[in-house]
Amino acid sequence: MTARRRVSVFGATGSIGQNTLDLLRRQGGAAAYDVVALSGGRNIAALADAARDLQADVAITAYRDCLPDLRAALAGSDVAAEAGPEALIAAAERPADWVMSAIVGAAGLASGFRALAQGATLALANKESLVAAGPLLMAEAARHGARILPVDSEHSAVFQALVGEDMAAVERIVITASGGPFRDWPADRLARATVAEAMAHPNWSMGQRISIDSATLFNKALELIETKEYFGVSPERIEVVVHPQSIVHALVGFNDGALMAHMGAPDMRHAIGYALNWPERRETPVARLDLAALGQLTFEAPDPARFPALRLARAVMDTGGLAGAAFNAAKEIALDHFIAGGLGFADMAAVVEATLDRLAAQERLTIAPSGLDDVLAMDHLARVVAAEAARARAGAGQG
Ligand code: NAD
Ligand code: MG
Repeated sequence: MTARRRVSVFGATGSIGQNTLDLLRRQGGAAAYDVVALSGGRNIAALADAARDLQADVAITAYRDCLPDLRAALAGSDVAAEAGPEALIAAAERPADWVMSAIVGAAGLASGFRALAQGATLALANKESLVAAGPLLMAEAARHGARILPVDSEHSAVFQALVGEDMAAVERIVITASGGPFRDWPADRLARATVAEAMAHPNWSMGQRISIDSATLFNKALELIETKEYFGVSPERIEVVVHPQSIVHALVGFNDGALMAHMGAPDMRHAIGYALNWPERRETPVARLDLAALGQLTFEAPDPARFPALRLARAVMDTGGLAGAAFNAAKEIALDHFIAGGLGFADMAAVVEATLDRLAAQERLTIAPSGLDDVLAMDHLARVVAAEAARARAGAGQG
């Protein structure tokens, strides 16, 4: 018998994390895998249950004030309890063969870098890593001979469509967007959209933040940048098409005119399972498509007026440097203010744009980061600028 694979899951209590644990259990759980580290946030019961069940070496909560609860929940087990960002980094430095990066937001950057530095294969759900620090992350992987496997459904689809192909023959990459719950809403109604309405994704069951990002198309904006950084394709070769059924996840167009589409039920366990079992495929419990029952698949162009996020992403790609880090941070702050009730739905894009404009005027965006610290410094600065912009907008009565 070969040695059991050592695996860690960062963001284990989230939507992607729970789906990852589901697959690990279905593929044998603690008997088949040597589970090193599992991390979570305030949902201590879920974190402790998973750590006990999968016999993890260590469980980490992101929040120090949660450590007593985690210790109590793990009492009598062999699982070590840790807390805080430094503990998260230390856990990512523990040797592992396969690491799932499924923390939401820029908070997921550091653990991914550390996992690559110790040579682990990084299953990357945390698209923010590529948006904020794409060139650095790819270079880190190359430096350590480590591999990054995409876990976003669109990027897993592109990755699969490229198996056995020569990148020189790739003409274009098309990623699909469901269009979110507001695809048909007129602009005036969109401006009054609530958090609950924005969270009601028509096809995918996901965490709160990515669900709202899907409604603004900021998720697709991040994914445009993710595509550029991961596949090394120039922005003008990357397209977004709205496909309300979420059955075709992405397409790759080749120089002979062929367009290879990847189709499947909207269930993240497909992309997670592909990354877990790559280069093999294994049975995964996703629904099988009945094309006749589906009847039709439709496609339309995204509306740039109601959904400015894609235009902003293109500007970010043109700027390069630290623009991606600023874009992601500003988007996270705008989202915080929308969730907290201080900002209207349509104001989120305005706050992001105002932040980018202000930082561009200070000539801070074109600077190429020399390391993760530069990225995190821009992340911090952009959060301050975006929070000011959000307060100014709310104060002007436009919230
Ligand atoms: P989620 O909100 O359901 O879970 C987030 C996880 O991150 C939780 O375990 C939470 O405890 C942890 N976390 C949150 N803040 C943290 C912090 N400050 N420090 C440390 N840990 C923290 O999110 P999700 O929907 O599972 O998404 C996770 C990532 O995967 C995101 O980057 C998202 O864009 C990406 N992704 C998600 C989906 C999906 O279907 N949910 C699809 C593609 C990509
Ligand atoms: Mg996606």
